[in-house]
Amino acid sequence: MNTSDLPRKPRAGTALIHPVRPVARGFRSLAPGTERASTVLFDSVERWKNRSGFDESTYTYGTSGTPTTRDLANRIAEWEGGHGTVLFPSGLAAVAYGFLALVAPGDHVLVPENVYDPVRQLGKSLLARMGVRMEFYDPLIGRDIERLINEATRLVWVETPGSITMEVADLRAIAEAVHQRGVAVVVDNTYSAGLYLRAFELGADLSVHALTKYPAGHSDLVMGAITARDGPTLRRVQEVALTTGQCVAADDAYLVLRGLPTMPLRLAHVERVALDLANWLKMRPEVKRVLHPALPDCPGHEVWRRDFTGSSGVFSFIFSDEYGAEAATRFIEALRFFKIGASWGGIGSLALTYDLSKSRGAWPHQGALVRLNIGLEDPEDLREDLNQAFDALCTVD
Ligand SMILES: *Cc1c(COP(=O)(O)O)cnc(C)c1O
Repeated sequence: MNTSDLPRKPRAGTALIHPVRPVARGFRSLAPGTERASTVLFDSVERWKNRSGFDESTYTYGTSGTPTTRDLANRIAEWEGGHGTVLFPSGLAAVAYGFLALVAPGDHVLVPENVYDPVRQLGKSLLARMGVRMEFYDPLIGRDIERLINEATRLVWVETPGSITMEVADLRAIAEAVHQRGVAVVVDNTYSAGLYLRAFELGADLSVHALTKYPAGHSDLVMGAITARDGPTLRRVQEVALTTGQCVAADDAYLVLRGLPTMPLRLAHVERVALDLANWLKMRPEVKRVLHPALPDCPGHEVWRRDFTGSSGVFSFIFSDEYGAEAATRFIEALRFFKIGASWGGIGSLALTYDLSKSRGAWPHQGALVRLNIGLEDPEDLREDLNQAFDALCTVD
């Protein structure tokens, strides 16, 4: 037999890239796979020529997704009750693209005064440069938002409860009021992890959230998502995302997929612990006010009871008038288990002070404010920690 008739074996350098012995498929487990790609391979030139990054039934390139990233996107769309989801490399990127998907030069957008602060910066920088005007509204405005709508208004942003001060917005009333004027409603749904607030049932067109928080849940990555109510709106998000190369790594997507099954349990735990601590803080003489949507004196609490099915583990409190910003700083630095740092929704408890005098000049509850994120530590240790930090305030003076 002539050896040249046998299929020639690739040399080692080639065989390491194009394996000769394929691995059996048909494997099933409860863990999703991690499928990475820059290049995606095509069977023919014809298929390559007819590819489309928008086609969810095929894969074209790393930036338009792999089975791992699409698995995550589909699960989010499913739990939020939307048409489809696009992933972004951070929550802030998802927020920015929530605007970029819907606005054009000359447009006017309405944003609540208690919005996640980087949105203000976005309004002052990129959106201003694009000729988009950002105006702020009282988060408790409800259907009176209609009075702020003009011919140029394209989008109303809602964040509920709002960052730091926790007012609960009446999303349903806002959506009803502005939809008849042809204005879109985008909700930053990070607080409820998309689980405790049915944004689409209440009228949202886009639901944005930071997967960094409860979905990832382990303080080890940043990622964001935009979920759209319907096909045409999803297409607008996909278009800005694909044309600017927004995508996430399969390994990070895997970590979020790994966090998801335990998310409802983690949320239920921090909800209970946060509420216990909020009620305990209310009794402290050092505390003037606790800002937690499940407490009856939280602005918008009736709306929270109507629209939300739970609360999460982030809330704020304001010191009594005799304790100023300096005391709040000392308090935070005296904490042992509550650490100093941004973000929330991860494994560890966090505490930060905020100076709202610039962004919320007209807000009626001025005072030294502390925001707490309740982590997964033993609840009794957390209470003792807060207790000893209050004690430390007295002894230093
Ligand atoms: C954290 C957060 C974001 C941004 O998420 P990152 O992943 O940290 O960029 C957006 N909105 C809200 C309400 C947030 O708390």
